[in-house]
Amino acid sequence: MTQQNQRPNAMRHSTRLDLVPLKTAYKDVGDTPSYERRFHVMAKPGGAKCNIDCQYCFYLHKEDLLHQPKQPQMDDETLEAFIKSYIESQDGDEIVFSWQGGEPTLLGIDYYRKVVELQKKYQPDGVRIENDLQTNGILLNDEWCQFLAENHFLVGLSIDGPAEMHDRYRVTRSGKPTFHLVMRAVEKLKHYQVPFNALVVVNRHNVKQPLELYRFLTQELGVTYIQFNPCVEANDFKTTAPQFWHESMIPVVGSELAKPGHPMSVVTDWSVDADDWGEFLKAVFEEWVNNDLGRVLVNLFETAVAQVMGKPAQLCITAEFCGKGLAIEHNGDVFSCDHYVYPEYKLANVKDKPLNEMAFSIRQQAFGMGKHDSLPKYCQECPYLNLCWGECPKNRLIKTPDGEEGLNYLCPGIKAFFDYALPMLTGLSVLLKRQEASSSQELQIPR
Ligand code: SF4
Ligand code: SF4
Repeated sequence: MTQQNQRPNAMRHSTRLDLVPLKTAYKDVGDTPSYERRFHVMAKPGGAKCNIDCQYCFYLHKEDLLHQPKQPQMDDETLEAFIKSYIESQDGDEIVFSWQGGEPTLLGIDYYRKVVELQKKYQPDGVRIENDLQTNGILLNDEWCQFLAENHFLVGLSIDGPAEMHDRYRVTRSGKPTFHLVMRAVEKLKHYQVPFNALVVVNRHNVKQPLELYRFLTQELGVTYIQFNPCVEANDFKTTAPQFWHESMIPVVGSELAKPGHPMSVVTDWSVDADDWGEFLKAVFEEWVNNDLGRVLVNLFETAVAQVMGKPAQLCITAEFCGKGLAIEHNGDVFSCDHYVYPEYKLANVKDKPLNEMAFSIRQQAFGMGKHDSLPKYCQECPYLNLCWGECPKNRLIKTPDGEEGLNYLCPGIKAFFDYALPMLTGLSVLLKRQEASSSQELQIPR
């Protein structure tokens, strides 16, 4: 399972005061003032195929859902159509390709050599092209790392903590652990100086050890950019598209069914508990503020600081609107979002329609606006609305206390986090604004 990723040159964070709109490589978010026609596509050139079998993966089941062949691979014609259209559809000075899956390294290095060649073929003057590869790291050997270094790829490496946490869900098809293989990849990446981020799925298990997890990443691995992604999967995610849930299956916030572990729970067993999520964020935030502010980037804290300062959200999930992060499958089919790869959310095929026509279509705009327009009254009246915006619609699995649908499953945790962190976020915001006014480049955090 792969998640969000971010380029090093986009690692400008609110705590260093250089907040041009951050481009998450995973999703470009909101309206970026200087680029009117920008969007992002998550490419899955090898479909859902993977070389391991993480229990919590939200994508493996697409093999069945989308009737994928045994060895899915985006063919040359489709690959070229995608690269050409993606480049021609945007008018920014940087275009970010993100390669994901499934496991994208299964296609082999030569496949990505072809990718780089095609990008050069269509690269306009003055436009920078960047590549991200989101991987489980299993296949990253010397040759791979040399290639990634030479071609300036940014790697998003999936790692869920030290061995005991990582191996809980991230296992091979025969149930064997993978932690040692990921650590081998870390060594190789470091040796070849390939920049990499940690993509961490916070699940029902590792959520209980926030400091052990965070310190492992920052102190043992030496990672300076971390993307925490709460694991939330509707229990029928393999067959039912988000927002197509049956009303009778939607529990009220705070009820037993709105938590993992109950046989009739709305979420899978491995989904994070919303209250635990709040405690996790609080503990990591405190550690981050005390020790790592300005040094380590944590996706959720960066955007929180930015938003408290009145700047645009840096993540689609905390933005008012979304819809600018599409996904393309190996056969060229394009979907509204990486988390909405279901037949109901298919836009068109890249061989039939230019990507910009899909990205800026009425249908896709409605998808993006829907994030805001479908908020329940409970959210509209929430003191943290401007920081949360109801989080990701795919997680809006529960009902408000008065029975309105569309509340985010993580709501209790999000609220608990902001109850705790808002005074500190506000203090940081004041400091940063002061610094902004004096045009200083580096924030001096009082200790
Ligand atoms: S649906 Fe969720 S993941 Fe997809 S773009 Fe919207 S907020 Fe982001
Ligand atoms: S914290 Fe809860 S109530 Fe407030 S906006 Fe977010 S999901 Fe809605």
